[in-house]
Amino acid sequence: MSLYEADCSPQVETKILGLNLTEQCNLNCSYCYQGARRDNRRNQMSFETATSAIDDHLSRDDEFKDVLIELIGGEVFLYWPLVRDVITWTLDRHSSWKKHFSFFIDTNGTLLNDEIKAWLFERRHHVVVGLSLDGTPEAHDLNRSDSYALIEPHIPFFARTWPHQTVKMTLHPSTLPMLFRNITHVMSLGLPVSANVPLEDIWGPLAEKAGHVKIFKQEIEKLVDFFSSNSQIPLPSIIDLPIAAVTSEEDHDRPWCGSGRNMVAIETNGRILPCNRYAAMSFDQTLFDHPPIPKAVPCDGCFFKAACQTCEAHNWEVNGHPDARTSFHCEFIKVQIWGTAQVQAVRLEKRVREIKSMPEEERLAHQDELALIRRQLVSVAAVLEHLENEAIVPGAAAF
Ligand code: SF4
Ligand code: SF4
Repeated sequence: MSLYEADCSPQVETKILGLNLTEQCNLNCSYCYQGARRDNRRNQMSFETATSAIDDHLSRDDEFKDVLIELIGGEVFLYWPLVRDVITWTLDRHSSWKKHFSFFIDTNGTLLNDEIKAWLFERRHHVVVGLSLDGTPEAHDLNRSDSYALIEPHIPFFARTWPHQTVKMTLHPSTLPMLFRNITHVMSLGLPVSANVPLEDIWGPLAEKAGHVKIFKQEIEKLVDFFSSNSQIPLPSIIDLPIAAVTSEEDHDRPWCGSGRNMVAIETNGRILPCNRYAAMSFDQTLFDHPPIPKAVPCDGCFFKAACQTCEAHNWEVNGHPDARTSFHCEFIKVQIWGTAQVQAVRLEKRVREIKSMPEEERLAHQDELALIRRQLVSVAAVLEHLENEAIVPGAAAF
């Protein structure tokens, strides 16, 4: 997986307990940040470690009512009996837990079979499985170990069992020119898409990066056109950033993720971490020996900060401190913010016209919605105004 493939959303009412069941994976994806540091000696969590962490967090008297237990790898279906036994053990004791709980499993989708699928389907209200899929067979196979053919027979199962669960799509320079096709391909399979620009420094020298940004903008324009004309279709996350947060004072400095706040992760050997990205297979462990040193970065005064993803662990590795944001993805996120604002402007204005054309009594019942839309349009206008003054990358397309 790439950095941003982890589910890092700060849903503060829910505790996220990540259990790193294994470091092993049966694929060797080109962009996987874990590949270089994976160590097969620490390759499996024991049943006792997993169930004792679950027992601990589901029995606590703390402020969280819900616990989402994420089973993380590597590829966890390499250890299917462990997955099955840990979930069964937890469900069997459901009446004794103090918390509501559910399970989430990340998978590359290559190791499912009829037995596993039947078992998961029966428990689909307690266990959600999220698939990684990069788009068309051509795009997917470029970076994900030629695995499309192994996943393809299982795609209808995912669409039928968890129709609202997004597929994780990781962007890469090689797949950028196919972005529109990749997103619409996955949506045509009945699955919503969460497509993420990696946070790592993968875009090459400035001139090369400028070329990638230009292609990215062309693809985002296609998405904006498509989703503006088809306003009944939910937006893919790539053009659905939280831009209202940009103009909200309250949200401007909120943490992007829940690492060490409402998130906790348990490594295969039982070590407790702020999130899975700090595990030995993902993070430079020597950094724990020294206190992080705060450093000024260009993001500090950025208008768009509240809509821009960041990873505290990656920041620490690159810039020496969890709060010193990396900005390798800066130009791409601004294109996404631009795309989000464009499509929102069209959809919100359309909704205003719909409300205004309603009979008076019905229209009056929509006054609160109208007021909310007006506030959202103010945020959209502020974002577009700021972007007008931005050149994305010297030599590349400007807004
Ligand atoms: S990466 Fe760019 S858009 Fe994101 S916070 Fe930093 S300067 Fe702002
Ligand atoms: S530090 Fe935050 S963004 Fe990075 S992997 Fe952990 S939870 Fe996700």
